[in-house]
Amino acid sequence: MQKVKHIALIAHDNRKADLIDWVDYNKGLLSQHHLYGTGTTGSRIQQDTGLPVKTFQSGPLGGDQQIGAAIAEHKIDVLIFFWDPLQSQPHDVDVKALLRIGVVYNIPVACNRSTADFLISSPLFDKAYTPQQVDYEQRLRGKS
Ligand code: PGA
Repeated sequence: MQKVKHIALIAHDNRKADLIDWVDYNKGLLSQHHLYGTGTTGSRIQQDTGLPVKTFQSGPLGGDQQIGAAIAEHKIDVLIFFWDPLQSQPHDVDVKALLRIGVVYNIPVACNRSTADFLISSPLFDKAYTPQQVDYEQRLRGKS
């Protein structure tokens, strides 16, 4: 990933206010990067902070899967995903798939505000960085 990052922002309904507040607090830094979001989260961030956000479909309508696909295509470098620990979602399987793909491609993933704070204040946030890739293909070949 380059110095200028492609950052995906997603929050479930009860976590949206917290994510928007975090984005607003870090607006100066985040304005130097490319922001993406699921439909409702992305629109609300744009509306409330004025930052440009490229929006995908709403999460329950496939937005999480679109962001997962973008991670697999190396188009998203960082995932900030405030999922709701107190409520199951109609698209829980998509949520699980997205978190899984974040691990497969070894991108930084923050699911709560403290982790997002640590991530954005890391010296690596402002530098080019190459995540090491686990050779899963070799493992998969070994199974056949
Ligand atoms: P939303 O989707 O931003 O469209 O609300 C978030 C999600 O549920 O994954």
